Amino acid sequence: MHVAIIGAGLAGLTTAYALERRGVRVTVVDRREGPGLETSFGNAALMHPSLVAPWNEPGVALDLLRWLGRDNAPMLLHLGQLPALAFWGLRFLAESSPARHKVNTLKNLRLALLARSEMDALRADLDIAFCWKKTGVLSVSRTPKAFALSKEAAHHVEPLGVSFRVLDRDETLAREPALAPVAGAIEGSVHFADDERGDAHAFCTALVDRLSGRGVRFAFNTDIAALATAPGRITGIETREGLIEADAYVLAAGSYSAPLGDAIGLRVPVRPAKGYSLTLHCPGNPHAPAMPLSDNSVHAAVTPIDGKRVRIAGTAEFAGLDTTIRQPRIDYLMSLLARIYPRLAETVSPQDITPWTGLRPMSADGVPTASPTLYRNLWLNTGHGHIGWTTCMGTARLVADMIAGGPPALPLADYSLDRF
Ligand SMILES: Cc1cc2nc3c(=O)[nH]c(=O)nc-3n(C[C@H](O)[C@H](O)[C@H](O)COP(=O)(O)OP(=O)(O)OC[C@H]3O[C@@H](n4cnc5c(N)ncnc54)[C@H](O)[C@@H]3O)c2cc1C
Repeated sequence: MHVAIIGAGLAGLTTAYALERRGVRVTVVDRREGPGLETSFGNAALMHPSLVAPWNEPGVALDLLRWLGRDNAPMLLHLGQLPALAFWGLRFLAESSPARHKVNTLKNLRLALLARSEMDALRADLDIAFCWKKTGVLSVSRTPKAFALSKEAAHHVEPLGVSFRVLDRDETLAREPALAPVAGAIEGSVHFADDERGDAHAFCTALVDRLSGRGVRFAFNTDIAALATAPGRITGIETREGLIEADAYVLAAGSYSAPLGDAIGLRVPVRPAKGYSLTLHCPGNPHAPAMPLSDNSVHAAVTPIDGKRVRIAGTAEFAGLDTTIRQPRIDYLMSLLARIYPRLAETVSPQDITPWTGLRPMSADGVPTASPTLYRNLWLNTGHGHIGWTTCMGTARLVADMIAGGPPALPLADYSLDRF
């Protein structure tokens, strides 16, 4: 069997790996000059089963109204985007009830734990370098209310195997001394020792290198105009270089899965949630953090990626497929860094900071989709939103189970398009 995969980001490449392992012939097609150059390039580098709750948490509707049009808000909605978000937006809000949010969090957690074991197996199989380390993550709170919610969220995921320790302020500072300048603002933290860190772009590059050696074909610089169809099936991928034909196809084009799907009557309930990161090149900076941190009051994550780079990432902006880097959002992210690690923010010069933006493919319920479609030889692997690095190995496994056969590792209905 020959499978063509649309998209060489985390979703597409891990699917290529999972299929190749089952002896399937694979071709990966991407418009960019190399792998992982869009949303999978500059993320927060965290693989965090502990923090996979969807962003449409209870109360999100009021937050969005409060933050409407504000550049200094964690989630920014542009009024002009409302028509494009209509049906998706209603479902996004409907899924924010406490009960739905809890159900969706557990779906994500099961996927993330599957992904972790699949990633362990991949690392043993390929022995690739991508700054991977089991660093743990510190989830810091600044108010008693936020701390209580954070502890409640940790207890919710504990029965499925997420271990954690609740730390008071002093214990938090002992774990992360770089927080000392803001000690007075910190209420406490939850420490998840099993979470991991890794450079997603380095992973994509190394994976392509290994998969090429195993016979997977990569067609880079290949812009896909459309999918060609006959009744009930896909007949090829239309590119300027001609038609790429295969027996089966996987649509893993991130946020662009929606327009590619629309063109063939396939509704993909994913919208782009634009995020930003700043990579600080700061080798030897004494104010750099020791471990990854997620600050749930400031809504940002900061990760030391290796001894030389620290990355802060966060914010969501509903701005369609616009990938321009807007200075007010960069300034806002920098102000968040100054609230978390003021000394680090003060001591890194602007020329040592690389800004980046990426479009998170956000599904309406905050759960990724790994699913068959109305075309019998087309599968979908997208909708990973803010947890694509944490869950991509899980959806890749599910898609490979469906295409190549084999008992599904998780209940497929939880990640199917049919839920919409
Ligand atoms: C600021 C930020 C921080 C994040 N932090 C984390 C984190 O710490 N942990 C975590 O788990 N997740 C994180 N994420 C989420 C994660 O990065 C994404 O979920 C993931 O990268 C999505 O991967 P993807 O393969 O679906 O999409 P992409 O990486 O965007 O891949 C899609 C590919 O499809 C190709 N493509 C699209 N259209 C076409 C076309 N017409 N023709 C040819 N090729 C096409 C693109 O070129 C691209 O390479 C973060 C995201 C952002 C933005």
